[in-house]
Amino acid sequence: MTHPIVDALSTVKARIARAAGSRQVTLVAVSKTFGAEDILPLLEAGHRVFGENRVQEAESKWPELKRRFPDIELHLIGPLQSNKAAQAIRLFDVIQTVDRPKIAAVLGKEARLQGKSPRILVQVNIGQEPQKAGVEIRDTKALVALCRSDHGLNVSGLMCIPPVDSPPEQYFRELATLARDLDASDISMGMSSDFETAIRAGATHVRVGSAIFGAREQAPS
Ligand SMILES: *Cc1c(COP(=O)(O)O)cnc(C)c1O
Repeated sequence: MTHPIVDALSTVKARIARAAGSRQVTLVAVSKTFGAEDILPLLEAGHRVFGENRVQEAESKWPELKRRFPDIELHLIGPLQSNKAAQAIRLFDVIQTVDRPKIAAVLGKEARLQGKSPRILVQVNIGQEPQKAGVEIRDTKALVALCRSDHGLNVSGLMCIPPVDSPPEQYFRELATLARDLDASDISMGMSSDFETAIRAGATHVRVGSAIFGAREQAPS
């Protein structure tokens, strides 16, 4: 008998494959709030790409797991503060949430100091929501250029979290168009409730948590 979380992973992977057709889409398994005991079965089943939204929480579980499974690819998908940049560069292989010049500068400096060059995605506020993280659509091109030329960052793509209260498809299409215009090949969009829609709109990476791990406890804010 397989582990229920491994069964759920297989189901999500099959759904991704169906929506993606002949394209390759990377599943980022979002393990926030879940501990090593829930992550290990997935690692043992061969899954390697994971996402966390808090640097501190990730620090408490991933260094040990990375020692045991050195080919893990860990993505930061939550907001990043400057004072956590050094830690983030040490721990994460991909940082999906760069959304302002200041954090780009600090990450560039830390990456140089540590001799690392993580893949960077710029997070876009695709629904133009006042309270939401992400660079404004009209400022995206300039931020990508700044990251690349001034800070030596390896910007490989764009990421978005569309508004919760309207159909996501138009936002997904808009992000995909923006990414193509910027030579950004990674397009990270789609979560448990809408990853197939995101894939049909061009996602190369989907971030799926609860459809794999089950419902999360209410997260403290
Ligand atoms: C938690 C989270 C996800 C996964 O959400 P689910 O609905 O559980 O799939 C994806 N992206 C980001 C940025 C998240 O914080």
